[in-house]
Amino acid sequence: MVDTRRRFFLRAQPAPPAQPRPPGALAEGAFLDACTRCGDCATACPTQVIQRGDGGYPVLDFSRNGCELCGDCQRACRAGALPGSTALGGWLAELTLARCLSSRGVECRLCGDACEPRALRFRPGARGVALPQLEAEACTACGHCVGVCPTQALSVRRRPLGG
Ligand code: SF4
Ligand code: SF4
Ligand code: SF4
Repeated sequence: MVDTRRRFFLRAQPAPPAQPRPPGALAEGAFLDACTRCGDCATACPTQVIQRGDGGYPVLDFSRNGCELCGDCQRACRAGALPGSTALGGWLAELTLARCLSSRGVECRLCGDACEPRALRFRPGARGVALPQLEAEACTACGHCVGVCPTQALSVRRRPLGG
């Protein structure tokens, strides 16, 4: 009986991916039911940020580019798997300061230049080298900061509950 319930729960609550689905994706279970893995969203994406993830389902890969939140993927999806808003709600950039060049006394600021919403601000640090600081409220999780960082100090993660 317990096994049956557990199997039902696992089927009803698929493990969420570690990378965002394209903007506007249905809740994970409904998304997996609706998405046909046709790849039309990826073809329509002007920044080629949509890649095939586990099972061939689309995820956003920020290693080379970010999302413009343009909605082209949503308009291309004939299966209705991306009906929501163009926001990437529930996701947030994560900055690991120990990996940033500033922690080695080198000033960089590439992530700040790439961040259109100005969610990456710089404050004076030791030895006059500016340290990046993430303003979570301003971050749209667009991922444009991720690929430009030479030391992989930035990633996009799930926003903490209540964050
Ligand atoms: S919103 Fe635009 S840039 Fe972002 S994944 Fe969709 S098509 Fe690509
Ligand atoms: S994910 Fe986008 S908005 Fe957030 S810090 Fe990076 S570039 Fe800025
Ligand atoms: S791009 Fe990377 S190394 Fe450069 S300031 Fe930003 S976090 Fe630091």
